[in-house]
Amino acid sequence: MASVTFRDVRKAFGPVEVLHGVSIDIEEGQFVVLVGPSGCGKSTLLRMLAGLEHITAGEILIGDRVVNALPPKDRDIAMVFQNYALYPHITVAENMGFSLMLKKASKAEIAERVRPAAEILGLTNLLDRYPRQLSGGQRQRVAMGRAIVREPQVFLFDEPLSNLDAKLRVSMRSEMKNLHQRLQTTTVYVTHDQIEAMTMADKIVVMHDGIVEQVGSPLELYDRPDNLFVAGFIGSPA
Ligand code: ADP
Ligand code: MG
Repeated sequence: MASVTFRDVRKAFGPVEVLHGVSIDIEEGQFVVLVGPSGCGKSTLLRMLAGLEHITAGEILIGDRVVNALPPKDRDIAMVFQNYALYPHITVAENMGFSLMLKKASKAEIAERVRPAAEILGLTNLLDRYPRQLSGGQRQRVAMGRAIVREPQVFLFDEPLSNLDAKLRVSMRSEMKNLHQRLQTTTVYVTHDQIEAMTMADKIVVMHDGIVEQVGSPLELYDRPDNLFVAGFIGSPA
């Protein structure tokens, strides 16, 4: 696992700046939630950390390494999106081991990494199934399994639960927290859902229109919001 640092990060699409100097410190092993209304720049920030988007100004570090110019494959991170497309024509086990197969790992090595990940996620009995034979929650777990198998330094999640129904979303929240407690991998989790942020985060970063409004523990934000936006968004009396 590794720390993650954003130093005065800016992003412009053409003439329009959408991130206006964002600084965030994420410690090794922390579960940090970026929360804010739709369009405030959460996904863009995550995509820059993943190397899927160029950074216009500032620095992003993973550990003590500036990664601004590194391609995604050299960043040692694994990302799970909202639309976690699984490969429909291969099994759960093969979906989970796919990245290792690309790296030309042997079948035995792949099986050795897939097995414990499947066990953590309760997928052991489903390894030979195909994605179409799974429920929504099981598919989401396979997408997480794919990320775990890579044993990355950092997990990135972009609204991974928002396509699930409300009940499943609640149970997956605690599953993801349990997973983090077991693996202790540094995690950056994006959501627009305050409750998700409040229940899952070690540390919350509240964003609004391309800036960071406040950083703190769920309790700090609730008890001492810095401004009306944070108070309104987190849902506490200002
Ligand atoms: P969030 O994930 O918080 O909903 P995004 O990071 O997706 O927000 O978007 C932040 C802002 O950047 C929005 O105004 C969005 O329209 C704009 N944006 C995102 N991606 C692009 C792009 N590829 N080209 C132009 N504008 C973009
Ligand atoms: Mg987004």
